[in-house]
Amino acid sequence: MQSTPDPVTVLVIDDEKGIRDGSKRIIERMGYNTLTAESGEAGLDILGRADASVVLLDLKMPGIDGMEVLKRIQAMDRDILVIIITGFATIETAIEAMKRGAYDFIPKPFEPDQLRIVVNRAMDKLSLKRAAEKLENERRRTLADLGTERTRIHTIIDSLPNGIVVTNADGKVVLMNPAFGRLMDLPPDCASGEPVSAYIKEEGLCKLIVDISSGRHVDFDDIPAYEFSLGGERFFMARGRPVLGERKECLGAVVTIVDITNMKVLDRLKSEFVAKVSHELRSPLSTIHEQLALVLNDLMGQLSASDEHLLSRAKEKTQGLISTIGDLLDLSRIESGNICQELKPIQLEELLDNIVDFLGTRARTKNQELVLEHPQAPLPTIKADPLALESVFGNLITNAINYTQNGGKIVVRIDMAGINLRIQVIDNGFGIEERYLDKIFDRFFRVKTDKTRFITGTGLGLPIVKGLVESLKGRISAESTPEKGSTFTVLLPVG
Ligand code: ADP
Repeated sequence: MQSTPDPVTVLVIDDEKGIRDGSKRIIERMGYNTLTAESGEAGLDILGRADASVVLLDLKMPGIDGMEVLKRIQAMDRDILVIIITGFATIETAIEAMKRGAYDFIPKPFEPDQLRIVVNRAMDKLSLKRAAEKLENERRRTLADLGTERTRIHTIIDSLPNGIVVTNADGKVVLMNPAFGRLMDLPPDCASGEPVSAYIKEEGLCKLIVDISSGRHVDFDDIPAYEFSLGGERFFMARGRPVLGERKECLGAVVTIVDITNMKVLDRLKSEFVAKVSHELRSPLSTIHEQLALVLNDLMGQLSASDEHLLSRAKEKTQGLISTIGDLLDLSRIESGNICQELKPIQLEELLDNIVDFLGTRARTKNQELVLEHPQAPLPTIKADPLALESVFGNLITNAINYTQNGGKIVVRIDMAGINLRIQVIDNGFGIEERYLDKIFDRFFRVKTDKTRFITGTGLGLPIVKGLVESLKGRISAESTPEKGSTFTVLLPVG
């Protein structure tokens, strides 16, 4: 909404009635309120009561003269524009008055047009002044708002428990909060301005931050979280994001650092507990399983059908428990980094060919086609633990067989994807709903649908696969469409 400007009032102070009345008539016709006073005293009196922005002031008057009136007006309000009315004889005095702060002058006698010109000039000056004042006020308000906003953001950042560090495009630190200083053991008076490596003693993270700062990671989803430890006692998780300008240019990076030491300790305690319990349970369970098998064998033909069914079920269930315990022990070993990997150069086509051959028997019992596809030319070998790779692809192919209907098809495809070997296990089976896709790699997670409810499993296969792939510095992902099938893709770095 545009506000209407305040009405402007002009005061004419002149002892000559003709000048007063004539000026009032002309100025009112120009659209301004006009007041008149016949002496300096009367004029000052009016100014004491009413607002006038422009004063036309005669210099030669009986009583206090114009120069004194000018002085007192200025003392009252320096913003009033005073136009001196002067006879030719006093032109020098008029100049003197201008030096003392009068805005303009008009010599007597004057034509209406001359008066209009000086008044218009004064009005222009007035509106310019008002516009400038308005702009200045707005600028002050905006600055004040910005100041408040900055203080608020600073207060929020400073009070966050997580460390925050902001870098510019050169990877130099431009902002950090107290939590960052505490987590990184920096001295309390540590100032920003240095390359990030002066603050963080973890080479890999510094490199990642410099890469993000210089715009090498514009795809946000591409940036991995970075876990690191200081002195092997405290553990941290860092996440970096680029700061993009209006034209999507990279201005730097924002990195948050969270202390995950407690989570790590809990996780270790949990893994140790699971490993201990699993270990304690494994031998008695194996004994029970063996004894059940023995009893079933010895009493073959002597048991009633229902007793035989009961004992067989008990044997199956103990077998299920034993494999769950085996999986749990494997998982604990992978998570604690305790897998003794025997690295050997491996020709992956050969290894997969053996697994496909072995699991082909199982696929054939479901009338499924299981094929391996690979390029004609031999692919580069990778250095890895063959047992780990057998476990990874054995699990993935077994899943594909289990979660695909009779008569379905499973393709194991291997090729190069950049510097990685890409292995895909593709089935046209039951598929997985999208909302479960990132959960299937969690421990014990199983999708139960009408079709998969009766398939036995532990929910530990994919977490083991993921742990092993990551221990080989690789990545695994899954895509799937319900009723159409699933594709599990493993990327393994060559060399
Ligand atoms: P398990 O197979 O022992 O249940 P996993 O960890 O291997 O455990 O798999 C977790 C879940 O992911 C499975 O229960 C199943 O619901 C789903 N899943 C895994 N592979 C496939 C697949 N190829 N097709 C459909 N669902 C699958």
